[in-house]
Amino acid sequence: MSKIQMTTPLVEIDGDEMTRVLWQMIKDTLILPYIDLKTEYYDLGLLNRNATDDQVTVDAANAAKKLGVAVKCATITPNKQRMEEFPELKQMWRSPNGTLRAILDGTVFRAPISVACVKPSVKTWVSPITIARHAYGDVYSGVEFYADEPGDVKMIFTGKSGKTSEYQLQTLDSPAVWRGMHNKDTSILSFARSCFNYALSTRQDLWFSTKDTISKIYDGHFKEIFEEEYEANYRAEFEKLGITYFYTLIDDAVARVMRSRGGIIWALKNYDGDVMSDMVSSAFGALALMTSVLVSPDGVYEFEAAHGTVTRHYYRYLKGETTSTNPVATIFAWTGALKKRGELDGLAELSGFAERLERACIATLEAGVMTRDLVGLVEPGFEARAVSTQEFLDAVRGSMI
Ligand code: NAP
Ligand code: MG
Repeated sequence: MSKIQMTTPLVEIDGDEMTRVLWQMIKDTLILPYIDLKTEYYDLGLLNRNATDDQVTVDAANAAKKLGVAVKCATITPNKQRMEEFPELKQMWRSPNGTLRAILDGTVFRAPISVACVKPSVKTWVSPITIARHAYGDVYSGVEFYADEPGDVKMIFTGKSGKTSEYQLQTLDSPAVWRGMHNKDTSILSFARSCFNYALSTRQDLWFSTKDTISKIYDGHFKEIFEEEYEANYRAEFEKLGITYFYTLIDDAVARVMRSRGGIIWALKNYDGDVMSDMVSSAFGALALMTSVLVSPDGVYEFEAAHGTVTRHYYRYLKGETTSTNPVATIFAWTGALKKRGELDGLAELSGFAERLERACIATLEAGVMTRDLVGLVEPGFEARAVSTQEFLDAVRGSMI
């Protein structure tokens, strides 16, 4: 059988620990036997980030900008404990995902992989719900303080032009907590564009919700930017595909989501997205069935698993133990990237392969062959047998048709 050819390379971003081991196993078992794989490779393993003073992360982001599609392995974000574990680190390097997001100016979309044997705890959800979280500003870069006596707070804006305006917040007769925060037009617009593009690319309805009845100017501004951008640049394409853009108050959205069948993208401001993504992902089941894609407003796609480097499994692997680490979300990062590459380059065979591989993963799980993390989540009536990572990959390969 001749291998499937590619034209444009994928940006391949390698990472750390157990997921780095999975990365190679997935390539060897499920990708390289079928595809004449072309990639531009960037090693974001912690030690190489350290050796290159983190330049490799910047280079990977720029390559993604140039080539348009990247696939990324999970990476360690060093903290104090990691600084002790790796004494050679020159500094506590920033989160690689944070750096990539900042350079690509993107929005992260998280969606669960649906399998019949692991049902969401919300009975009506028959299709995945994708959460799009705005990853800039609001409380995450707010300024807060506690004033231990009564008093008043004013906000003073000094424009670049020199013009100033002053706003009286409140005069209080008690000690109080106070906060000031902001968001930028440019960032809200990028968020809106990423959401509209992703909805078009996945042909799903897009919902956006804020609390604009209370926060008339702040949240109202988000609503306006989305609306203006939709009317000016996206309505026609949405209508052509038969999908809708729908704005509603966040309370109403929460109530509707709980009663919905799923199959939507739910765009949320930074804090709302932080909280709701944890609720939605735990309701859908396992961390290792959660995919994540970073989409830039100009259409760069970077695919990854939502989970981390699975450190505890890695230390068992290093001791020579056979591990049962779930590779499914990492496989779906590869299939997401290959599908997108195929779509952009007009390579139906490549996209078709990615879809077959996804179906083979799902069929394997539904036949009861799975890694240990899933066994306890399986619905009554389904079989479940825990296998090692390599056995699982071999079973997936066996069900490729
Ligand atoms: P984690 O790697 O996601 O693992 C947390 C726990 O979840 C694991 O110990 C494991 O539970 C379970 N788990 C996660 N993925 C699994 C899989 N594929 N198969 C089976 N079980 C899985 O999160 P963490 O321990 O908080 O973080 C570890 C490292 O990952 C950190 O250095 C962090 O910086 C990094 N991280 C990277 C990313 C990213 O690159 N996108 C995201 C998050 C975290 P059991 O041990 O109980 O089996
Ligand atoms: Mg959270």
